[in-house]
Amino acid sequence: MTDFRSGFVAVIGRPNVGKSTLINVLLGQKIAAVSPRPQTTRRRQLGILTRPGAQLVFVDTPGLHQARHKLGTFMNEEAEASLDGADAILFLVDATCDPTEDDLGIASLIRKLKRRPPVVLALNKIDLVSNEAAAGVVQQYRQLLPQESESFLISATRGDGLDRLVDFLVGLCPVGAPQYEEDQITDLYEREIAADLIREAALLKLRDEVPHGLAVRVDEFKERDNGMAYIRATLLVERDSQKGIVIGQGGKMLKQIGIAARREIEAMTGRKVFLEMRAKVEKGWRNRESVLERLGYRPKH
Ligand code: GDP
Ligand code: MG
Repeated sequence: MTDFRSGFVAVIGRPNVGKSTLINVLLGQKIAAVSPRPQTTRRRQLGILTRPGAQLVFVDTPGLHQARHKLGTFMNEEAEASLDGADAILFLVDATCDPTEDDLGIASLIRKLKRRPPVVLALNKIDLVSNEAAAGVVQQYRQLLPQESESFLISATRGDGLDRLVDFLVGLCPVGAPQYEEDQITDLYEREIAADLIREAALLKLRDEVPHGLAVRVDEFKERDNGMAYIRATLLVERDSQKGIVIGQGGKMLKQIGIAARREIEAMTGRKVFLEMRAKVEKGWRNRESVLERLGYRPKH
């Protein structure tokens, strides 16, 4: 055990590049909500990967983006904070397009860090592009990053390049004892993960006008004697019109969201789940500190 390696890897990248997918795949279990819509991940979450000789703690940062309201500001602060003290920065980007303005912003944030951990570029979704195209995109990123940065071509969904990437990250970590028990894979409680899974299910079912105005609050999460979990949750929206959409005709939409969410939560907890949901208007929740606080999106001071 003398050369056990252990460290923190800050996973950074604009929304939708596949950060949550990658962490779920590496851990072999779903801990982070994934969705084709940006901004599914709203809070910092640890993904703990323990294998013989090493423990990597991935910090999944909420996507960096221009802050348009307080929630946005909070997400950017969280993302920057997670770079402090990391043993490596894993900058995840999308192989299917040239660097966007958000990517440029993150690259410049990385370059400006005072005490910069080693930077590893991972070009994700290579299953969708040709080798030449991928090489061209990597080239563009190399010019934006510190010279010594290493780059890897990966596909989180297909599993390409992941072993090499993990081996390399382990090599960047210092020798030291593990920070967490070997069977612990995340720092979030089941009820918080449940809230994210409900939100994910809602985002997948709903049309474009609602998603950014949607939050999920788990009001009750109880284990019954028969081993079932009883969960009561509220979908918070900003406007009456959104509430109508979330509920749907005759409650159809809410029911569909509930069925999908229940399936995911059952897979995550390994238990039968009874899920009760309602929708509620909480006007302008994204700009109200008290509401943000209750939902756990509290800014650090
Ligand atoms: P995040 O916002 O960076 O956490 O991104 P997500 O993990 O939520 O993923 C965004 C979308 O990209 C989802 O629809 C994923 O299924 C998809 N995705 C992630 N990785 C890959 C990949 O390697 N290949 C393909 N084709 N799609 C991917
Ligand atoms: Mg995510």
